[in-house]
Amino acid sequence: MDIYRHPTFDMACEQFDLVAERLQIGQVERERVKFPKRSFVVAVPVRMDDGRVQVFPGYRVQHHLSLGPTKGGLRFHPDVTLGEVAALAMWMSWKCALTNLPYGGAKGGVACDPRKLSAGEMERLTRRFTQELIPFIGPQIDIPAPDVGTNEQTMAWIMDTYSNHHGHSVPGVVTGKPVNLGGSLGRREATGRGVGYLVGRAMDVLGMDTKGATIAVQGYGNVGSVAAGSLAKHGARIIAVSDQFGGIHNAKGLDLNLLEAHLSKTRTVTGFSEADAITNAELLELPCDVLVPAALERQITAANAPRIKCRILAEGANGPTTPDADVILDQRPDIFIIPDILANAGGVVVSYFEWVQDLQSFFWTEAEVVDKLFRILETAFTQTLNYAKQEKVSMRMAALSLGIRRVWEAKKQRGLFP
Ligand code: NAD
Repeated sequence: MDIYRHPTFDMACEQFDLVAERLQIGQVERERVKFPKRSFVVAVPVRMDDGRVQVFPGYRVQHHLSLGPTKGGLRFHPDVTLGEVAALAMWMSWKCALTNLPYGGAKGGVACDPRKLSAGEMERLTRRFTQELIPFIGPQIDIPAPDVGTNEQTMAWIMDTYSNHHGHSVPGVVTGKPVNLGGSLGRREATGRGVGYLVGRAMDVLGMDTKGATIAVQGYGNVGSVAAGSLAKHGARIIAVSDQFGGIHNAKGLDLNLLEAHLSKTRTVTGFSEADAITNAELLELPCDVLVPAALERQITAANAPRIKCRILAEGANGPTTPDADVILDQRPDIFIIPDILANAGGVVVSYFEWVQDLQSFFWTEAEVVDKLFRILETAFTQTLNYAKQEKVSMRMAALSLGIRRVWEAKKQRGLFP
């Protein structure tokens, strides 16, 4: 399937092949479980504010259809390609299976730079992209959600475009919507909150205390900022954070309220007066108790893995660690890894809750959402930890094995049609 060639897709395949080898999945079944079921590439023409029409490439990949509709985020970022989206869709499949959700994985995106688009251009781009995908999405088909560069507003435009087409409101077509439009309480915070919960559980296992623990976060967006906030609430010290423009460091701990005020004025963490500037590369190598990569893929590589100095690596981002780096980290028992498909699963778990609430038109309190979220994460964490111990494999291998095995079993149980 050369059409998906991309370093991130190769990385997802390499991880899959290692697991398939361990689970002894036969060659033909391996291909059935590995490759995306269907992918869409669309041209999205947008009238820009200056009157020009610009055509953006858009993608949606639905990885497998064996356990229910597909589910996954939409990314608006200049580097989005079919191969990257396919890798992210694959990881969504294993994540949904690990947490026992009735979904296959999906992912989508548009290659664009949201920072260079006006609000009007963003809205026209989102609506036209949705229009192109209308036959292929829906509450029983494929349900998008926010990812890098998209947010509640993006989801509201998608829901509105889809609903206009159908002549009635269809809130279940997306998750991560504004609460007022059928979104779930606790969805916006879900991924970062989940990272915080799982870091707490890893600390229990390692006999560490959250109070006073030092935390470095790469990528201070939705996931990174909420993870930092929830750990700070439990007494942790956030010593460094970053975004695409660079990082900031204060060994005494950053005041997150002051940082929030700075961020709302400047839209970047850089230039914050209460901290020193550091680069993203330096942040990853800071001595700290917990390192949370929460930006993009392939940040921890064979080059920097030997120099990482955290006790817990909590992967808020999808695919932040390359397989080459994993080989090195596997030899470092000093680092406890909470792998991405477990660490950031809180987002899709509460997306699932949102979808269920929309289908029933019956809404839950935030306390109910958080309680149910933590129960699911607790089960997934315990199962992964037990599997890793019993099988003497890494936490990543354990999480991937549990997820991939469920998808493989579903395919075997359903059989081959016709
Ligand atoms: P976001 O757009 O809200 O934030 C991304 C952050 O990363 C921003 O601060 C951005 O400036 C920063 N960034 C971008 N490029 C960078 C670079 N090269 N170096 C350092 N920082 C950089 O996105 P998000 O929703 O927080 O997603 C972050 C990661 O978490 C992604 O890998 C995404 O797939 C994953 N994730 C998100 C969710 C969710 O619910 N939003 C769920 C699961 C996983």
